[in-house]
Amino acid sequence: MVDAIGLNQKMLEVRALADGKGFSSDPARIWEMLALIHTEVSEATDAYKKGEPMEHVGEELTDAIIRILHLMSALDLDAESLFQEKMKKNWGRPYKYNTVRGG
Ligand SMILES: [Mg+2]
Repeated sequence: MVDAIGLNQKMLEVRALADGKGFSSDPARIWEMLALIHTEVSEATDAYKKGEPMEHVGEELTDAIIRILHLMSALDLDAESLFQEKMKKNWGRPYKYNTVRGG
């Protein structure tokens, strides 16, 4: 069991919502859950492209976060520790690392 702090608290909230609303977290759904993260990013892209209010873009991005946290819960990952470790790693990288043509 992960410590219920930071992202892990949000992950537990998302898992409770998914369980409460009947959305399975069965490992058999991992591929589907990965694909659904893409759909939310696509929805945000479409909303931005169409000039919709930023609140709508933000809502779709929030859907992506929710789906990511649901997947991380299904994979029994420690989201908070992974986030902290990855940020530390990224801060340790050089300025504009892996960037040749921008991005
Ligand atoms: Mg959405």
